[in-house]
Amino acid sequence: MKKHKCRICKALLNKDEIAVSKKLLSRDIDKYFCIKCLADYFETTEEILEERIEDFKRDGCELFI
Ligand SMILES: [Zn+2]
Repeated sequence: MKKHKCRICKALLNKDEIAVSKKLLSRDIDKYFCIKCLADYFETTEEILEERIEDFKRDGCELFI
C-alpha cells in the first residue's frame, strides 16, 4: 500500500489519520493531514479528534475498517 504523508508536516500517516482526513474534508482528496495538523486546521485538539475517530468507528463508518 502507498504510504501517505501529511501535506503540512510530512509525517507518515496511519490508517485512522487518512480515514479521518477523508471523513472530515472530502473523500476525493489525495492530500491528507496528520492528527496534529488536522487539529490545527479545525482549531480543535488532538484529543477531540481522537474521540471523533472512536465515534466514527463505533458508528461503523466504512472508511475506518
Ligand atoms: Zn502534519
